Amino acid sequence: MNNRVWLQRDLAHLWHPCTQMKDHETLPLIPIRRGQGVWLEDFEGKRYLDAISSWWVNLFGHANPHINAALRDQMETLEHVILAGFSHAPAVELAEHLVRLTPPGLERVFYADNGSSAVEVALKMSFHYWRNCGQPQRTRFINLSNSYHGETLGALAVGDVALYKETYQPLLLQPITAPSPDCYLREPGQSCEDHARQAFRDLELLLERHAHETCAVIIEPLVQCAGYMRMYPPVYLKWLRQACDRFGVHLIADEIAVGFGRTGTLFACEQAGISPDFLCLSKGLTGGYLPLSAVLTTDAIYQAFYDDYERLTAFLHSHSYTGNALACRAALATLELFEREPVLERNQEKARLIRELCAELEDHPHVAEVRQTGMITAIEMVRDRATREPYPWQERRGLRVYRHGLEKGVLLRPLGNVVYFMPPYVIEEDEIRLMVDTAKEGITLATRD
Ligand SMILES: *Cc1c(COP(=O)(O)O)cnc(C)c1O
Repeated sequence: MNNRVWLQRDLAHLWHPCTQMKDHETLPLIPIRRGQGVWLEDFEGKRYLDAISSWWVNLFGHANPHINAALRDQMETLEHVILAGFSHAPAVELAEHLVRLTPPGLERVFYADNGSSAVEVALKMSFHYWRNCGQPQRTRFINLSNSYHGETLGALAVGDVALYKETYQPLLLQPITAPSPDCYLREPGQSCEDHARQAFRDLELLLERHAHETCAVIIEPLVQCAGYMRMYPPVYLKWLRQACDRFGVHLIADEIAVGFGRTGTLFACEQAGISPDFLCLSKGLTGGYLPLSAVLTTDAIYQAFYDDYERLTAFLHSHSYTGNALACRAALATLELFEREPVLERNQEKARLIRELCAELEDHPHVAEVRQTGMITAIEMVRDRATREPYPWQERRGLRVYRHGLEKGVLLRPLGNVVYFMPPYVIEEDEIRLMVDTAKEGITLATRD
């Protein structure tokens, strides 16, 4: 069957994520027959370079032979078992690996099955910790402007991207929002660090006023990915960690998008030398194979729940697929790939090449900024480069880049007017060139009038 048939059958019944379905009256929906490395192939043999790692999940390519083999083996042994009252080898081994690899002090692993659920777990655990410690008045969370933590109601509430959040506002708990250290927002002539310092002072004032009623500060370390790939310097995390300690509130680091090497280090928090009280992981955790997430926390927090059953201090939270054996095994195989090969070192060269190839965009009349943190590179398209006046969102300039990418066989999926690259780590030099050249052409075409 060809693309058209699948497309018709799809549109007859499916409701796609994050999509105005009416767009598909004119926008092609692309049925994919198979994937191999960075490539996706449709039912007519046309190939697309997956420059966004299929929504930031894929690390080592589609149909990775090592992960495939591990999953085949796991499938023949144990696909899944309830994780309450029972255990299995992949869940145990993965927890051991994660504790070893993540910043020091994170010794307990709680599994869930997607990123939003991990955020819910961290929020509930933090709140519940304070309650177990005799501080039930702590009911609030501090977040950053332009942050994103997922789509379920709790996770949505602590995010701040209006496009996803505004409609549901009446349903949401109300966080206390501090200004983002986002370096794009700095004044002309101001350094990123000075801007971050200014944002941090505002956060400190909020902590002074609200610490007594606050459970935790929740942030995305270094890159606000869904918030248009905005970036900030590691030093902010260092100040934030100190402030959370000083004011006695938890720090939740949501590394769901940035974990597993995206920012250049295995975890973004490493660049500031900090350990959060809660670390949320998902997306790349299974190499992009299966839904799984993990929340890591400290022994001190774990101990606040550990007591006789009658005291009702236990964390009675679960998801049916918590710690799924296949997903844990895929995650183990993914971590083995990091151990076998100098992935992060090689990524440095790949990131350098991406940056070099993007250099000429810095002078483009409709590009305000090219920014990069590790393997994440973003290009901000604007109407006026001098004033940074954005294009009206209704013009959907990014969508033009998307369409151009599809024509040329590259899956780019701009966030608003921000074109970005977050490719699988197995991308090769010629593929990097194709990816960047296609984006450059797309940007020029999309900003012509
Ligand atoms: C994607 C994402 C989430 C939500 O994860 P899902 O698996 O899509 O629910 C949460 N936080 C960040 C930073 C993310 O990028």
